[in-house]
Amino acid sequence: MAERDFETVVIGGGAAGIAAARRLHQAGVNCVIIEARLRLGGRAWTVADAAGHALDLGCGWLHSADRNPWVAVAEEQKRTIDKTRPPWARWALPHKFPEDEQREFRGAQEDFFRRVGERAQRDPDIAAATLLAPGCRWNGLISAIGTYISGAELDRVSARDFDNYDDTNVNWRVVEGYGATIAKCGEDLPAILDCPVQRIDHRGKRLRIEIPRGAIVADQAIVTLPTSILADAEQLFLPALPDKTEAARGLPLGLADKLFLSLDGAEEFDKDSRLFGAIDKTATATYHMRPFGRPLIEAYFGGRLAAELEAGGTSAFFEFAVSELSRLLGNDFARRVKPIHNYCWGADPFARGSYSYALPGKTDCRATLAAPVDGRLFFAGEACSHGDFSTAHGGWITGVLAADQAISALRKKAAKPAE
Ligand SMILES: Cc1cc2nc3c(=O)[nH]c(=O)nc-3n(C[C@H](O)[C@H](O)[C@H](O)COP(=O)(O)OP(=O)(O)OC[C@H]3O[C@@H](n4cnc5c(N)ncnc54)[C@H](O)[C@@H]3O)c2cc1C
Repeated sequence: MAERDFETVVIGGGAAGIAAARRLHQAGVNCVIIEARLRLGGRAWTVADAAGHALDLGCGWLHSADRNPWVAVAEEQKRTIDKTRPPWARWALPHKFPEDEQREFRGAQEDFFRRVGERAQRDPDIAAATLLAPGCRWNGLISAIGTYISGAELDRVSARDFDNYDDTNVNWRVVEGYGATIAKCGEDLPAILDCPVQRIDHRGKRLRIEIPRGAIVADQAIVTLPTSILADAEQLFLPALPDKTEAARGLPLGLADKLFLSLDGAEEFDKDSRLFGAIDKTATATYHMRPFGRPLIEAYFGGRLAAELEAGGTSAFFEFAVSELSRLLGNDFARRVKPIHNYCWGADPFARGSYSYALPGKTDCRATLAAPVDGRLFFAGEACSHGDFSTAHGGWITGVLAADQAISALRKKAAKPAE
């Protein structure tokens, strides 16, 4: 590719990159998304099963839906928004977990969240696991849920960051897929796909973005790469930006993976209900039965369990799920399920994980990561958000913010008399 010239390049075409590029494009800025994959969307990705049902392998829930900007995008696209209350806001199915025990568990979990809320903003920051009640029988399950929320065990997660997460508890879904909605939003934007950025050279008056087929020249860049990539790529910036590398290292990506199973005789279970694989340990999956009423199970695995299963591929996820479900529902249950789709986000070279959490003491890394450099390198992505990290709407909000910073820098430069 010959050298090409833009005002702004957006590096990474996930939720943040698409939101940023859309804003720039609307403001008339000559911009382009440079994306390593063959598709836009990043960790937002919808595939279809044989019946044509949309399956979200990455984000599925419009969290904080009453203030989530993707809702308006989905509505613009005439998508169907499902407002059924999520399984975690209702009682789980009673198999090996009767309602009185669920009530006791919920009380213990609320106590844990309260202790986090009371302690989190005091110095020094500590690991969230420190606030588990010693000897409480529900610690395993509280920690399992911690791995679904953060993608990591609570002993690795900052209590302050955990507390900073800001959720309105309104959770909706897009029937046709959250990932499909996000990708479609980027469809008409200028983008170069299949093009991993190798270096951002900011030594000269203009930026030189090195890619496998040459280089792109630009006035500014908005970098939306996952922290897993930034933490490992000390040579990405020339000269290096050690503050950014360190900030990214304080915000690793936790791991969460899904496995979709087909389910014969699905009507036996309530629509959008849930089973816990086990209630006495952290290394267990949660099973969303009949999502949208479909004859499917969406199994969710987090933290070390997900990492261990990734080493064995889809068959390891499937065998684990079948063993937990058979224990709950009887050995015959194994004959009723088949694996349909699974995705290993830890092994994905352009994600290397699922969503960010802060290590204890590293909450400030979010602001450090988000801070612009030299008025021409801007940063966005879920990990840059103070309270909406780990989400697709956190991606959107930080993307729009970075685009606004970039637009205002361009306008300032244009208003200055030429040197
Ligand atoms: C299993 C799972 C479940 C989830 N569930 C939810 C949920 O229910 N609700 C929710 O809101 N969020 C959820 N999330 C999180 C959500 O998907 C992410 O937080 C969000 O999509 C991140 O968007 P982003 O733009 O910050 O990053 P990304 O989507 O990772 O975008 C970064 C982009 O950069 C690209 N890239 C990487 N390296 C390069 C390079 N060298 N050059 C150019 N491009 C590069 C990547 O391919 C990617 O497209 C889930 C994620 C997973 C994995």
